[in-house]
Amino acid sequence: MSKLLNSVLIANRGEIALRIIRACRELGIKSILAYSEGDKDSLPVKLADQAVCIGPANAAKSYNNPELIMSAAMAFGADAIHPGYGFLSEKADFVDMVEEEEIGFVGPKADHIRLMGDKIAAKKVARKAGVPTVPGSDGLVSDADEAFKIAKEAGFPLLIKAAAGGGGRGMRVVESEETLAKDLDEIMSEAETAFNDPSVYIERYLTDIRHIEIQVLADGENAVALGERDCTSQRRNQKLIEEAPSPAIDAELRAGLEQAAINLCKEVGYKNAGTVEFVFDNTEDKYYFIEMNTRIQVEHPVTEMVTGVDLIKEQLRIASGLPLSITQEDVQIKGHSIECRINAEDPNENFAPRPGKITQFRTPGGFGVRMDTHIESGYTIPPFYDSMVGKLIVWAEDRDEAIARMLRSIDELVTEGVVTTAPFQAMLLDSDKFRSGDFNTGYVAKLLEG
Ligand code: ADP
Ligand code: ADP
Ligand code: MG
Repeated sequence: MSKLLNSVLIANRGEIALRIIRACRELGIKSILAYSEGDKDSLPVKLADQAVCIGPANAAKSYNNPELIMSAAMAFGADAIHPGYGFLSEKADFVDMVEEEEIGFVGPKADHIRLMGDKIAAKKVARKAGVPTVPGSDGLVSDADEAFKIAKEAGFPLLIKAAAGGGGRGMRVVESEETLAKDLDEIMSEAETAFNDPSVYIERYLTDIRHIEIQVLADGENAVALGERDCTSQRRNQKLIEEAPSPAIDAELRAGLEQAAINLCKEVGYKNAGTVEFVFDNTEDKYYFIEMNTRIQVEHPVTEMVTGVDLIKEQLRIASGLPLSITQEDVQIKGHSIECRINAEDPNENFAPRPGKITQFRTPGGFGVRMDTHIESGYTIPPFYDSMVGKLIVWAEDRDEAIARMLRSIDELVTEGVVTTAPFQAMLLDSDKFRSGDFNTGYVAKLLEG
């Protein structure tokens, strides 16, 4: 019978570093935080059991540097590394290094990241597991002739996507044959610059869709699905508001989506937490696999709020070699949860990042309100990383109450000194469209156009 890890090195920053520190503390696991000079005054540094400065603010020389993370983990004798999201979390070569040193990794095996982190490879696995995928190319598309052939079959509009893309970056809609060759060329060189990998593939661009994703936990033997998150409220393919359950999914659809996600995990023998993402076609009530995120996701709290399962603790248990603490029957969805990703960005200036000093910070409170943030009054949001202020999460008995609770929580939030996306999110939540529950990924852009 194995027991919990003794210590975990956290290779991340901000709210997710703090989230992991808190879970470790409650489980009696020692947290060791690897931080950059840009974060030396941050709350995670103050709250971790130990903290080690690994390099300058520039992420390439700190959070994104595998050698530095490895030497910190070894110097401190960490049993395992938790990568959080972003940074090295989905870099299979880094996980190879971790495995070679026989340090634990709070995430899947390197080979599974390699398989599922590459979007082309993942789609092939999905097809093999009998999970529907968006019509388009069978795999890599490298020249215009091939692109024209696919266009003939799938029809316009098309979406060219980078195999290594993420965070809403690395994709382009092609409206017609005229620009296809040029678009292909441009997106390939953009992918090369942004992700060091020019591989792209093509999908039919579906215009009336919702983004629905299934949270899974797997220990290598068993896989459990924890319902869906609806992340349809997006701007430029980036999530703004997430909720669980989805207002568009009934029990039958949920069961189908969950089974598809579990089949995919079983196909590869997946271990740890993962998210299987689908686009859900409103016009024909069909879903298609788009990608799998082989890590904890930003919006994981909404699932925690409606299931009562602490996903980070489950990740730590699985990485300790313990079996899942829950079965599929234990998962019961209760009430409704909404999350707003609040960024220091100016909605009136095309969402340009506005990092800076928060002179006064006050988080909302009360029944059903949770704020995951590393910010305190007087903290300066550094310009080197993403500009997230925090995640405001609410739980309520039903969707209407959750909307009301989120609106009053945004009212209470004070972020003196920086402009944030919160008022914009309040406007979305209060719109007839959002309240109706009947919308698609295009509604935010429509509201912005006026
Ligand atoms: P989630 O998938 O958890 O909802 P995002 O897609 O926004 O959230 O990604 C979470 C974080 O990881 C963000 O900070 C994002 O910038 C980063 N990220 C995700 N994929 C990549 C990638 N391929 N390259 C670089 N950064 C990425
Ligand atoms: P990322 O790795 O950046 O998260 P995804 O493949 O998950 O990329 O796609 C991000 C978003 O782009 C989706 O949530 C969806 O809104 C949109 N999208 C992706 N594929 C399609 C598609 N074939 N048709 C229409 N929209 C799509
Ligand atoms: Mg995605």
